[in-house]
Amino acid sequence: MFLDGELRPAAETLAVTDPFTGEVVGRVPSDGAAEVGEAVASVAAARRPLPARRRARILAAAASALLARAEEFAELITSESGVCRRETGREVERAAANLRVAAEEAERIRGESIPVPGHDRLAVVVPEPVGVVAGITPFNRPLNQVVVKAAPAIAAGCGFVLKPSEKTPLTALAFAALLIEAGLPADLLAVVTGPPAVVGPALAGHPAVDMVTFTGGVTAGRAVAAAAAGRRLLLELGGNDPLIVLRDADLARAADLAATGAFATAGQSCRGVKRIIVAEEVADAFVPLLVKAAAGRRHGDPRDPRTDLGPLISVAAARRVEERIEGAVAAGAELRHGGHRDGALMEPTVLDRVPPDAELVTEETFGPVAPVIRVAGPDEAVDVANGTAYGLQAGVVTDSAPDFLRIADRLRVGAVNLDAGPQFDSPHIPFGGVKSSGVGREGIRYAIAEMTVAKTITMPYG
Ligand code: NAD
Repeated sequence: MFLDGELRPAAETLAVTDPFTGEVVGRVPSDGAAEVGEAVASVAAARRPLPARRRARILAAAASALLARAEEFAELITSESGVCRRETGREVERAAANLRVAAEEAERIRGESIPVPGHDRLAVVVPEPVGVVAGITPFNRPLNQVVVKAAPAIAAGCGFVLKPSEKTPLTALAFAALLIEAGLPADLLAVVTGPPAVVGPALAGHPAVDMVTFTGGVTAGRAVAAAAAGRRLLLELGGNDPLIVLRDADLARAADLAATGAFATAGQSCRGVKRIIVAEEVADAFVPLLVKAAAGRRHGDPRDPRTDLGPLISVAAARRVEERIEGAVAAGAELRHGGHRDGALMEPTVLDRVPPDAELVTEETFGPVAPVIRVAGPDEAVDVANGTAYGLQAGVVTDSAPDFLRIADRLRVGAVNLDAGPQFDSPHIPFGGVKSSGVGREGIRYAIAEMTVAKTITMPYG
C-alpha cells in the first residue's frame, strides 16, 4: 500500500498489463484486508482540520505539477489503459482543470445563519468535513476518475483512502505521490491495491470510513453499496446515454457529435454516446454521414499520434462487444461499417435499424459502437431513450426549442444537452445519474457538498 507518502514493498504483487502489447508494464502490491485496515486506521487517526487556504494551495500546486509533467502522465495512462496518446493528453488537462476548480472551491465552502422562528435563538449551520472518504475508481480515464474524488475530498478537508482499478493502478499511485509533493500531509492519504473482491468490500465496510464514493459498473457498485451500508454513499455507475436526432437537426453536426461521443476512449466512457435515436424521416441521410465519420477514424497503436482509437482494456472486453454486435445483426440490425475485432482492438462500428430490445442497446456496451435506432418522432424517441435501466446523460440535436424542452422535461437522466452530446462536461456543473446510473452528484462543488456534513450551533440572543 501507499501510506505515509511511500509505496511499501509487498511480498505478493499484481501485474499491470499494456492492453495493446500484452506486456507487463508494472507491478503493484496485492493488498488484503489487513493492509486496508491499517491504511484506514492510520488516515482516520491522523485526520485534522487543515485551514482552507492551505487546502487551496495544495490543490493549486498539484494542478501546476500535473501540467508540468503532463507528457509523463499521458504516457503512463496510455501504457496501462491502451487509450490513445492523443486523448490521454486531454485527460491530464481535464484533471488539472478539476484540481484548479477544487482549489477555488476550497475557499468558498460556507454555511448559513438562521434566526430560529418562534425562538429567541440564532442557529449557525457550519459545513464540516464528513471525515474519512474511501474512493473506488474504474479503469477508464484512470487519472481524472481519481482526481474527481481526491480533489473534492482534499478541498472539503477529509482524509482520503483510494482503491484504484487493479487494471490501471500505476497512474493512481503516481498521482498520490504528486499530491504529497504538492504539500498534502502524507498521513492524510493512502492507496490500497489488490484483488477487488477482497480490498473493495474491506475498504467500503471499514468502520472508520465515513463516506464511500464509487465509480464503476452497476454490479460492483451494488456490492460496494451493501458493504457500505449505513454510511454516506456516492455512486457513479454505468450509462447507456442517447443522442436524439430530430427531423429538423443539422445532420452534419449530429453525425459529428454522435461519432465523437461513440468513439472517444474507444467507446469506454460512462457518458459516451451508446445509442443514436434518429427520426425515421432523416435517418437515410444521417447514417452515411455517420459512416463517413467512423471511416475517417484510425484504430491501432495507441502511441501513434495519428491513432484515434486504441484497444479496449482487454481481449475479453472486446469479445463481449463483438458478441453484442453479432447478436444485434442476428436480430435484424444492418452492419454499415466496421464490426471486426483483432485481439483487444475493435474497429469503429456503425449499425443501422438496431432493434431497441437488442442487448447491444439495452445493456451498456463499453466499446466503439454507434448503433442507430430509428423512431417516428420526439415522443417515441423519449420512450426509447427512457427504456433502459440507466439514466446518466443525454444529448439532443434539433432546431425546435419546444421539442427540446418537452424532451428535456420527460427524459429520466441527470443532464440533457441541446446541440451537444451526453459527453458534455465541465468541472463547474453537477454530474451524476438517476435510476441504475447512480446516487449523488459529482462536479467539484457538488462533490464537496456531498463530502461535508452540516453541524448546527444554536445560541440565545439575550
Ligand atoms: P468495475 O465496476 O469493474 O470496477 C470499478 C471499481 O470497482 C474498480 O476499482 C474495481 O476494482 C472495483 N470492484 C470490482 N468488484 C468489486 C467488488 N466486488 N467490491 C468492491 N469493489 C469492486 O468497472 P470498470 O470496468 O473498471 O469501469 C467501467 C464501468 O464504470 C462502466 O460501467 C462505466 O459506465 C462505469 N463508469 C461510470 C462513470 C460515471 O461517472 N457514472 C464513470 C466512469 C466509468
